[in-house]
Amino acid sequence: METNELSHVRCDLCGADDSQRVLEKEGACYAECKRCGFIYAHPRINDPEAFNEEIFQERLQTYVQKNYSAKKQRDYRRELRRLEPFRQNNRLLEIGSNVGGFLFQARQLNWSPIGLEPVVACARYGCEQRGLNIIASTLEEASLPDDHFDAVYSNAVFEHLAAPSVCFQSAFRVLRPGGALYVDTVNYACCTREYLGAGWKLLKPREHLSLYTPATLRAFCEKAGFEVLRMQTNGVRFRTNEDRKLRGLGRLREELAKFPISLACRFTLKGDSITVLARKPSASSR
Ligand SMILES: [Zn+2]
Repeated sequence: METNELSHVRCDLCGADDSQRVLEKEGACYAECKRCGFIYAHPRINDPEAFNEEIFQERLQTYVQKNYSAKKQRDYRRELRRLEPFRQNNRLLEIGSNVGGFLFQARQLNWSPIGLEPVVACARYGCEQRGLNIIASTLEEASLPDDHFDAVYSNAVFEHLAAPSVCFQSAFRVLRPGGALYVDTVNYACCTREYLGAGWKLLKPREHLSLYTPATLRAFCEKAGFEVLRMQTNGVRFRTNEDRKLRGLGRLREELAKFPISLACRFTLKGDSITVLARKPSASSR
């Protein structure tokens, strides 16, 4: 990759241009907005999309194995159950569908899912190998109709967005009144980060351009017009990615040690990832 120019960016949540550096890693930085607390990669390395395309292509086979594994398919099925109360016409949209594992499970459950995946190699795999409907585009650039979908789902994508506000607005536009937005993303305010610091694997200012806390994720939803129904966090990690994988007893011991902390994190919203379920108000309540 060629060297990049750096550009100055404002806070995408509140528009302020008043931030302080909170972390430097791999030649890039995160800043925290002093007004609203949003964490974003700043200054910004230009053309992060090109960077993503490169690494996603390298990882394609790994993604296929992971997304279509029995465990992942069960996880998707569980998440789809949460969208069931919003099902009226089976229209489901996924933002950032990668190689299509979630869409594949949704189709099994009789949804008519559409995916958006700007990384061409991933979109092509889902279409050609699995017969899924994946558009190689971002949500903003895809010409999707207004008030159309029962649900919009996104997992491990919003941390990659350079300007999340626009994506929240577009999701709001394409959802039918009463439809649901489900977003799962990185939780900056988690105890793993407090414990591991910069060594935490999800702190990647070149790839993860936007990092949320429960408060800023809620603020993005509400700014776009959503009503937040539920928010929860999951997961905790004691060791950095570089550490050797534990097996057998060591692994068991670690899982047991983690259990009370994982449980506490659930109640305090300090787990590694945040999930928000929000609703576009129905016409009568707007
Ligand atoms: Zn701000």
